[in-house]
Amino acid sequence: MSKEIFAIFGNPVSHSKSPLMHNLAFQGLQYNACYTRHLLEDGNKLKETFFRLGLKGINITVPHKEAAFNACDVLDPFAKKIGVVNTIVEREGKLYGYNTDAPGFLKAISEFKEVKTVLFLGAGGTAQSTSNILRDEGYEVTLLNRSQERLEKYKADGFQTYTFETFEPRAFDLVINMTSAGLEDDSLPAPKEILDIVIPSAKACVDVIYGKETPFLKLSKRHNKPTKDGSDMLLYQGIIAFEHFTTQTYHFDEIKPIMQKVFDFN
Ligand code: NDP
Repeated sequence: MSKEIFAIFGNPVSHSKSPLMHNLAFQGLQYNACYTRHLLEDGNKLKETFFRLGLKGINITVPHKEAAFNACDVLDPFAKKIGVVNTIVEREGKLYGYNTDAPGFLKAISEFKEVKTVLFLGAGGTAQSTSNILRDEGYEVTLLNRSQERLEKYKADGFQTYTFETFEPRAFDLVINMTSAGLEDDSLPAPKEILDIVIPSAKACVDVIYGKETPFLKLSKRHNKPTKDGSDMLLYQGIIAFEHFTTQTYHFDEIKPIMQKVFDFN
């Protein structure tokens, strides 16, 4: 079998850990493939670029996950429902699309038991796939966002949605930072007066940002709450993508110890 080539498409793409994660797994499992990165400026050129580069599969990051959805010939049912694709595999000339962010996130929070109600801080692209999978799994998801605009879609989908102005703080089992607040600044994802009510009544607090302790997680720790950052979500979406890339040749638990070595690198 000739060497298969995989890549991540995004803009920007230089920061992505996906090449390292997948190359560690390809090498560790002796699978004849390699993984690179490609700066894709125009999402409309995704399909053409995929075939021109002779790729077997890709991951897609910001801002092309909707363009990736449009480029696919075949969609798995969940990707089809949410309209967002982050993993594509080529089979017999056709592009098959999946979303692995959402099941990765679901698995990452599965360690928190007896959770029913979840408060999402933020309503961007990441919240879109994760809110839907959580609801499918029986969680009650409420979204709280800084501005009204992004909430409209969720409201139309039947989610409970609030802005900081309309929210009346109450107890939720899990509070999750789905915003980019704290990624490159020191801001909290919601006003402290709100967080000082919802955090103490939560069983645990989760952040999708990884690689640093955000102001949200620091505040949650000050309230003595169990916390979790976005590292497992990153890892698990990668493992599930790898399962698709290799057509389920390897089991999740076989890939995990190899791929998680990514966190040994800076
Ligand atoms: P989007 O740009 O789609 O959405 C950003 C969201 O954050 C919006 O709801 C926005 O609110 C809100 N927001 C941004 N800054 C602030 C702030 N200072 N205060 C309050 N709200 C704010 O981003 P994504 O959904 O793509 O990404 C969100 C986060 O998820 C990022 O930090 C990203 O790094 C992380 N992520 C982690 C992954 C992982 O594997 N761990 C995978 C993918 C993403 P508004 O509508 O008002 O602008």
